[in-house]
Amino acid sequence: MKVLFYGSTGPYVELLQSTLKKISFFLGNIDGNFGMRTRNSVINFQNSFGLIPDGIVGTNTWNALMPYINGYIYYTVKPDDSLYSIAEKYNTSINNIITANPSLNLSIIYPDQILVVPFGNIVLTNINYISNFMDMNISSLKIVYPFIETGNIGYSILGDNIPYVKIGRGQKQVLYTASFHANESITTNLLMKFIENYCYSISSGGTIYGFDAKNLFNTVSIYIVPMVNPDGVNLVNGAFSQDSTTYNRAKLISSNFPAIPFPSGWKANINGVDLNLQFPAEWEKAKEIKFAQGYTQPAPRDFVGYGPLTEPESLAIYNFALTHNFRLILTYHTQGQEIYWQFLNYEPEGALEIANIFADASGYTVANVPYESGFAGFKDWFVQNYNLPGFTIEAGIGENPLPISQFDEIYNDNIGILVLGAVL
Ligand SMILES: [Zn+2]
Repeated sequence: MKVLFYGSTGPYVELLQSTLKKISFFLGNIDGNFGMRTRNSVINFQNSFGLIPDGIVGTNTWNALMPYINGYIYYTVKPDDSLYSIAEKYNTSINNIITANPSLNLSIIYPDQILVVPFGNIVLTNINYISNFMDMNISSLKIVYPFIETGNIGYSILGDNIPYVKIGRGQKQVLYTASFHANESITTNLLMKFIENYCYSISSGGTIYGFDAKNLFNTVSIYIVPMVNPDGVNLVNGAFSQDSTTYNRAKLISSNFPAIPFPSGWKANINGVDLNLQFPAEWEKAKEIKFAQGYTQPAPRDFVGYGPLTEPESLAIYNFALTHNFRLILTYHTQGQEIYWQFLNYEPEGALEIANIFADASGYTVANVPYESGFAGFKDWFVQNYNLPGFTIEAGIGENPLPISQFDEIYNDNIGILVLGAVL
């Protein structure tokens, strides 16, 4: 973790502020600027945790913060402990502890035994994700909810892993994706929070959007790829310093398109290829349209690349789809509060009905895809190749990147779609 101090800026400062806020040491706005208010919060935290109160967040302070970032600790059982007393101490439930320790035999917890004790939320909903934070959260979710499967579908241009999470053991498979586009990363927060809430419902024997979570777990396998474009997201959300080669290479690409703000207008992967214009579904048509618009070379958005599937990120999701048996896909984008279900004249059985049910559940509108963005998308290819329901959900409303303050509204609007996508 980065060493942070007065004057530091960026996503790690946001993570610090978000974490201190979680435990009520920081009451200011999360702005990614390490100012006096953040410094005072750090000093209070350090005093409370027996650390040297120097206001600098180095290894020891990060280590003390880590349980609150991860949402669990490894706890060494003491002679007088019971599961009940441990749960009380960490303001959690016995059920949560049992879930996180599947090999635990209730009758024999013994001194010096090491238990995973989960507490609090893991997933970030008040700051933007960079890929590191997502990876940390996925690791924590896997420890707290060991019944999920995690892995990688492939790697980005810069060698970052593109993770997936699988929840469920049913024959029926569905796929949900987010952040194909770099400046749409609020969709990553959405899918990550869905994973956490669904897992919690499964673990506690509860419901999600009115459906019995364990039953859903047993009947459907939901595959989630929460960040298809980690390099692009990292660029937009400040993971690369402004003197880095990566940042400056992207800036140079962007300089040919001065009307597009940098980096906030960046949608492409780090090569300047739009990953959602890369699929063998009328790719030539997409090329013709986008070239006519002036996107004839690597660009912050709308460059189709030099051929279909030239980019490792689009190839990874394509291969992932080919090696599974998805009955339905949701591809999350922002914005517009719209649902797209069509490609050319394909009308997969049930797709329009499902789109209308999604619209009822979300308050979003079933819409026709704008002609100029109607080709070579992942959803387009899926519909063309399988003639099965595939949807683009344009979540939220406003100008991209949407502010993270829209998170709660977007989650509440989309939880029905996310559950019904597996049920229908
Ligand atoms: Zn998009």
